Amino acid sequence: MDFTPVRTQFPTLTQTFNGYPLCYLDTAATSHKPQRVLNAMTQFYLKNNANVHRAAHQLSSQATRQYEAVRDQVMDFIGAQHREEVIFTHGTTEAINMVAHGLTQYIDSGELILVDSLAHHANIVPWQVLAKQTGAIIKPIPLTKEGRLDLLAYDALLKQKPTIVALSHVSNALGILNPIETLVAKAKAVNAITLVDGAQAVAHMNINVQQIDCDFYAFSGHKMYGPTGVGILYGRLEILDSLNPLITGGEMIKSVTFEKTVYNTLPNRLEAGTPPIAEVIGLGEAIAFLNDIPAIEKIYHEKELLQYLQDQLKAIEGIILYGAHPDNIGAVAFNLHNEHHQDVGVLLDQQAIAIRCGHHCAMPLMQTLNIKGCCRASIGIYTNKQDIDCFMTALNNVITLLH
Ligand code: PMP
Repeated sequence: MDFTPVRTQFPTLTQTFNGYPLCYLDTAATSHKPQRVLNAMTQFYLKNNANVHRAAHQLSSQATRQYEAVRDQVMDFIGAQHREEVIFTHGTTEAINMVAHGLTQYIDSGELILVDSLAHHANIVPWQVLAKQTGAIIKPIPLTKEGRLDLLAYDALLKQKPTIVALSHVSNALGILNPIETLVAKAKAVNAITLVDGAQAVAHMNINVQQIDCDFYAFSGHKMYGPTGVGILYGRLEILDSLNPLITGGEMIKSVTFEKTVYNTLPNRLEAGTPPIAEVIGLGEAIAFLNDIPAIEKIYHEKELLQYLQDQLKAIEGIILYGAHPDNIGAVAFNLHNEHHQDVGVLLDQQAIAIRCGHHCAMPLMQTLNIKGCCRASIGIYTNKQDIDCFMTALNNVITLLH
């Protein structure tokens, strides 16, 4: 399939900086948005703008219908069984915080929470807060020398009967794809509650939460060609319904007196206050955009590009790649021997190459790799071979300049 017509839907990618065409290799941080997503949000504000679920007027009914239709779209997109299992949040971070906060009654002092060593801070810090509140203990699932999760060590940790197991589907820093179904099945075999951080997975592969069989799955709209400010928490109905709400107030109640409040049913119970309505509608359009591209073509296109990127980088003398593997998704992490990652990033930026440099919100992973940070180039559906060639030319210029 020719992906040129897909790329032309992204207006931001036509810009130049310092006389160079923008080469955007930072999709793992946030993706660009196709014109149709921007149009859908503008149209909402131009025609349907009203608060949802509340007023008796037609405009509000229209907005509510549009907003709730996206819940059905998300349900289909991730293969959930019930529309009530889809909660709109402001992003992955909020979604994981909702779960960690909501599970207080499930965990006692001395009980165990396992978190994988590839995890983003958003899948570490909320568990630390829960551990501090309850006296629970967090243990990391270690990595092998190759930077992948150590399955033998995981099996050994599971023998300690953890209460909660929090996993990354795809590592944002290295692009490593975890064998998520196996990891979840093993956790379930010891009756652990499982959460999967899917922030780096949803845009790149087909997700089916029933097949993964996790209790919770979290992701953000802005990494899948939708807007910022909206994300999804999927939860298996029964356990989702038992979460203590993180945020309380309007919309999430059935009745309120000064003595007592009765909470609403799902999904409203976990969506207090005015939700990000236009953003939800933008997310719906992003899903429609993704659904219009045959999944197999999309996966193949990105796989081929990532392999090309890995191969080109591997051929550079003095480069260090972290966790590079043919099965990786969306990103490659590297350092130039003896050079600071930030210097490399700045010199690339002067040639309009946008990559990310730093700890990638995964400081424990950087500690495991024994580095302070690294460069990460990440791709999306609009990336083409020319982007990678421009990047490689610019990187070779940086190497010449620094030596
Ligand atoms: N988890 C992973 C794996 C991520 O890549 C990110 C975003 N970098 C997050 C969680 C947090 O997502 P957000 O900032 O959209 O809440």
